[in-house]
Amino acid sequence: MIDDKFTEFDASQGEGGGQVLRTLLSLSIISGKSIHLHSIRARRPKPGLAVQHLVCIKAAAELSGASVSGAFFGSQSLYFSPGKVRHGKYHFKIDTAGSSTLVFQTVIPALLKCPGDSHFIFEGGTHNPLAPCFDFLDEVYLPYLRDMGVQCELLIKKKGFFPIGGGLWEAHLNVPVQLKPIKPILAKPDFHTHLTVLHPRVTHSQIQETMERLIMSLQLNSRQISWDASPDSPGPGLALLLRYKNKADQSCFNMESSLNGPRQKFLDQADKLIRDVNYFQRFLVPVGRYLADQLILPMALSGFGHFRTCPLSNHCKTQIDLVNKFLKFPIESRDVENGAIDLTIGVNS
Ligand code: AMP
Repeated sequence: MIDDKFTEFDASQGEGGGQVLRTLLSLSIISGKSIHLHSIRARRPKPGLAVQHLVCIKAAAELSGASVSGAFFGSQSLYFSPGKVRHGKYHFKIDTAGSSTLVFQTVIPALLKCPGDSHFIFEGGTHNPLAPCFDFLDEVYLPYLRDMGVQCELLIKKKGFFPIGGGLWEAHLNVPVQLKPIKPILAKPDFHTHLTVLHPRVTHSQIQETMERLIMSLQLNSRQISWDASPDSPGPGLALLLRYKNKADQSCFNMESSLNGPRQKFLDQADKLIRDVNYFQRFLVPVGRYLADQLILPMALSGFGHFRTCPLSNHCKTQIDLVNKFLKFPIESRDVENGAIDLTIGVNS
């Protein structure tokens, strides 16, 4: 029986994909409000819930003891009524190559308002196009959460490349009683780059031309390149990960990645990386366009955030809108030099 305690959302609004679903699940748990989403992924070529979205819903429901209806393949309507968040041991498996890192990013914000210890096992894709890869999660996203006081350690046992998936990893999370707002992230990055080539069952000769193009275009020398055959991965694949590191402490503040998409040629994959790198270098900001949308909700939960980023992506605009409406949290964007944007999440006290 459906009653009027459910807050309605048109999930096709804004970016209109999986991110709207994941963010609304997190926000529902954090606020304790029941939600009804309709028109889920309605404008996508294959509308409705796919396997990886169902795992995100399952994860959100297990974590919060939620009651759920409408969670089936292809469904465009979902009722989600959260209970109380519980830390504990969880195991979430995606049977397809769907991104397991996105499942993690559904549960993390939901736990940030609930101090305690949790242990997760994830199975599924770890290196997918159009999602944060495991390395990005560990080296770019999580350091900011650690600065907020969250202890989080990841351990990868098997990489799962799209389109086979089959990765396996664990996360141990400890959330403090009070999150600390982190310092504004504004400095122009002082960077040097490092390219990692993850290449399960792809031979060097297959990617020789690809490497030549990357080395020329990105002006890399051999000391800036490392190779990882990822022999533990169940499927073949190629991931090109370009890390921007801070010279002083070697921390990684941005990673551009190009993952092998369906029927994509390796040379096209290299070109995508080069385009993304050129885009990033036009603005030279400390927070890249992907990290920007991922930081908004954790920063709002910590009480304040301020960072400089590239022109806002649709994902980022949608995230601002959802967090702003749901949590009534002020978020302001301001154009600054050279096309970059300063985002302020909350009011600096
Ligand atoms: P959606 O397309 O709605 O499933 O959301 C995709 C999420 O993955 C967004 O939070 C993006 O910022 C993130 N994302 C996509 N591509 C990358 C990438 N190459 N590196 C890091 N994050 C990414």
